[in-house]
Amino acid sequence: MFESLSDRLGGVFDRLTKQGALSEDDVKTALREVRVALLEADVSLPVARDFIKAVQDKASGQSVTKSVTPGQQVVKIVHDELVHVLAGDGGDGKLKIDNPPAPILMVGLQGSGKTTTTAKLAKRMKEREGKKVLMASLDVNRPAAMEQLQILGVQIGVDTLPIVKGEDPVQIAKRAKTQASMGGYDVYMLDTAGRLSIDEELMQQVEAVRDVANPRETLLVVDGLTGQDAVHTAENFDERIGISGVVLTRMDGDGRGGAALSMRAVTGKPIRFVGLGEKMDAIEEFHAERVAGRILGMGDIVSLVEKAQETIEAEQAERMMKRFQKGRFNMNDMKMQLEQMLKMGGMEGMMGMMPGMKKMSKQVEEAGFDDSVLKRQIALIQSMTKKERANPQILQASRKKRIAAGAGLEVRELNQLIKMHRQMADMMKKMGKMGKGGALKQAMK
Ligand code: GDP
Repeated sequence: MFESLSDRLGGVFDRLTKQGALSEDDVKTALREVRVALLEADVSLPVARDFIKAVQDKASGQSVTKSVTPGQQVVKIVHDELVHVLAGDGGDGKLKIDNPPAPILMVGLQGSGKTTTTAKLAKRMKEREGKKVLMASLDVNRPAAMEQLQILGVQIGVDTLPIVKGEDPVQIAKRAKTQASMGGYDVYMLDTAGRLSIDEELMQQVEAVRDVANPRETLLVVDGLTGQDAVHTAENFDERIGISGVVLTRMDGDGRGGAALSMRAVTGKPIRFVGLGEKMDAIEEFHAERVAGRILGMGDIVSLVEKAQETIEAEQAERMMKRFQKGRFNMNDMKMQLEQMLKMGGMEGMMGMMPGMKKMSKQVEEAGFDDSVLKRQIALIQSMTKKERANPQILQASRKKRIAAGAGLEVRELNQLIKMHRQMADMMKKMGKMGKGGALKQAMK
């Protein structure tokens, strides 16, 4: 999986990390090579373009960290961006199979590996989670398809719904549901018919089945070797049927891997599993971190940079604490605090971390104080001059007007910020007075 892409990127970054100092041109050249490598891996053009832009923005906005080279920092940024592209925002990959019997709808084109994947997943749920699984083939067009699933079922020791000639897919789906309920099954999987290409009849059939089964998961199986076609297929199925995730098959070959990289960005749907061969065990959960690591093959550098960044944050906290002890808390400190809050998951994330804060977070929300407020406050501070940030007490009406206008906001919001700053400064002063090793040091740990 991803071998050629990995080789290409490896070459680029080897050169980059060996250099001590990097010019902007070095980074530009490297990123141009990364872009070509992505396109050669059949990553779609807009995804590759956005990827490079995101890396460029982050690289130029980052201060140079001691103890790692700029090249190493670039590797880390590329790694993080890869994880982002692969995973989007979360999703833990686990199938939703609570509330038995949970229906799982399997959809996809013919030959994508749908039947094989159905059996692989059934085996996994049975062996790893001790689930009782029933599989049913709804492929009435190809009698051999039903038998194929039955044979796989016997092979892996998972029940299949008995074949009844002459039923339509909706009738089979209903029978599977009844059988699953009566037979005490945890999960029943519906393996729908495939077609060579997407057509209206296929979509209508799948829709009808979806409507009676009301699936907990609708997994689209696509052939990873087909690159961008796989992504288009996913877009189409998602539009018509609504899918909850994608299984990419044939990732064991030396495919170019582009489908995996474009899938989430283009369709918004996560890749949940990858098929890695014809055998019944040849399937893996898809983990963005792991895959990004595999693509870059530079795990050591990534963790090295993470450590260095943690050290810097600790140093920063220490410096701030010293300032507070002296009773200093200006708008620069305030900005750093606000940014820290955003980084820790914003208001919601911070409140969620503190016990007993759930109720308060609701009040905060009702008062209209959310992450956008944090961002606006940061924007206001950014529109202050150096002198104003260091001495907020000089903020008089004309300055306020200019600052608010600069941030595209109203003076009212700036007044709120100033009030909040004053309250925080008072609090910091009090905490600072408690001395070294006092409450503040505890709070910072
Ligand atoms: P369906 O028509 O979508 O149900 O496709 P099948 O499940 O019948 O699979 C078609 C062929 O692809 C079979 O020969 C499978 O063994 C093979 N296949 C399925 N998944 C994978 C995979 O992840 N890797 C490889 N190498 N072959 C696979």
